[in-house]
Amino acid sequence: MKIFYTILGIILSILILAIGIFPRIGNHIQVESIEIYKNPTIQTRGDIYISYLETGSFKTLEGFLFAGGSFFKPQNGSHMAVLISHPSGNILIDTGIGKNIDSQYESMPTWLKPFFSYEKKNPASEILLSKNIAIESILLTHMHWDHASGLKDFSNAPFYTTKEEIITSQSEAAKPPAYMISQYEGLTNSKTLEFKDGPYEIYKECVDFYKDGSVVIVRLPGHSPGSIGIFVNLSPEKRYFFTGDLTWRREGFQFLTHKYFISSLLVDLDKSMMGKEIARISEFQKLKPEIKIIPSHDSNAYEGIEKLEQNIGR
Ligand SMILES: [Zn+2]
Repeated sequence: MKIFYTILGIILSILILAIGIFPRIGNHIQVESIEIYKNPTIQTRGDIYISYLETGSFKTLEGFLFAGGSFFKPQNGSHMAVLISHPSGNILIDTGIGKNIDSQYESMPTWLKPFFSYEKKNPASEILLSKNIAIESILLTHMHWDHASGLKDFSNAPFYTTKEEIITSQSEAAKPPAYMISQYEGLTNSKTLEFKDGPYEIYKECVDFYKDGSVVIVRLPGHSPGSIGIFVNLSPEKRYFFTGDLTWRREGFQFLTHKYFISSLLVDLDKSMMGKEIARISEFQKLKPEIKIIPSHDSNAYEGIEKLEQNIGR
């Protein structure tokens, strides 16, 4: 009996230590100095609209979302897609959870399933179909499973990603919990982003997607080799910066923290690269507070953007 209580005591002590100390791992990102390479002139556009589609959700604790978060605070996260209605062609940023997620998810090892669960909502393709909205192009912040799951639901729209992401997604390293090959194998509609449009804000190179300054793509590597960030500019006062999974919450930029260290170990490729980028964006945000920073899974960050819901009856 004595041994039983001793072991129980040790286990409880480890648990208390884990909650009390471990959450702080990843909570120490150095401040970085930044340089604005190009201060863009932002046009007021009355013909571009933005909305978001919630394709899935998950429940977790704040502590798992960012280092230093509370393990006593339940939080919801979302698997989002974002629609940019643009006169030159509608764009979808990420696809979120697609129609075939259940069969795709079979490749997730059982022991990882509790860390990467999802609750299905309406797939982006169905929401858009119910509203007769066609998509011309898909921009993937990266090719991880929770962002690329709906690619085959949009086989007529080319999807754009970086060369690095294409190479990785077809390599030996492309496996869960990051990539699910079944989501994109056999597809021939990928297009590679060429960063040839010069500097933009704090980035040395960019892709100005429609060459009108409204949708501008920059490199944000670290979470995956070819992750990107996307600026969407509706007017000088209405600007958005979609930062993919560089952080899972805005708190990452506010408090200079990574994800919880175990979450990060499972999904992040290069933490030091990410730390620098998180710190740079945090400084940039102080200079340009009008830009709304939106981490992909942070439901709270979408506040103020219209939510596109599926029309009943389709
Ligand atoms: Zn993600």
